[in-house]
Amino acid sequence: MKLICIGRNYVEHAKELKNPLPENPVFFLKPETALLEDNQPFPYPDFSNDVHYETELVLKISQTGKSIPESVAGDYFDQIGLGIDFTARDLQQKCKDKGLPWEIAKGFDHSAPISKIFLPKSSFSDLKNIHFHLLLNGKKVQEGNSQEMIFPFEKIIAYVSKFITLHPGDLIFTGTPAGVGPVKQGDILEGYIGDKPMISCQVT
Ligand code: MG
Repeated sequence: MKLICIGRNYVEHAKELKNPLPENPVFFLKPETALLEDNQPFPYPDFSNDVHYETELVLKISQTGKSIPESVAGDYFDQIGLGIDFTARDLQQKCKDKGLPWEIAKGFDHSAPISKIFLPKSSFSDLKNIHFHLLLNGKKVQEGNSQEMIFPFEKIIAYVSKFITLHPGDLIFTGTPAGVGPVKQGDILEGYIGDKPMISCQVT
């Protein structure tokens, strides 16, 4: 399986990192070794001093597809979860400055915690109005709604699948809203979709 992550998909987040708004979805991959499941703790890596949380809705792909038309892209995922796209912001900035790829900042081990549960797509009354938020040590630091996405789910799937064949079980992180920030050892992150607790992750 593979992890595909969308960058700059919320206007306010693009602004907070002083990034231009994209004309097409920006995406990158994390390897399978980035996955962190079952609310396992996140070990703070020794190669960064500025690891940030980015809370994101995550789509689980349900069937194989290539060059999927946007009109049917909704048929290619069946579950929605919540994930954290941990980012070594200091390394990412260095990569950006030099025009280099982001893998060392984004793809490192355990950098992709995902919720223990994924919710069936059918359990949502409106996929264009999914509210989610993140608590850091009990205080709300991020909230977003799928209606604020620059590129909606169908557009993301259509675009990514032009380049990369999607398989069942692949995960797509759909981008983070504003409010990203650093974590430190001992912090506890708790993510919710609506009122439902989805993910809890301690930084160790
Ligand atoms: Mg992200």
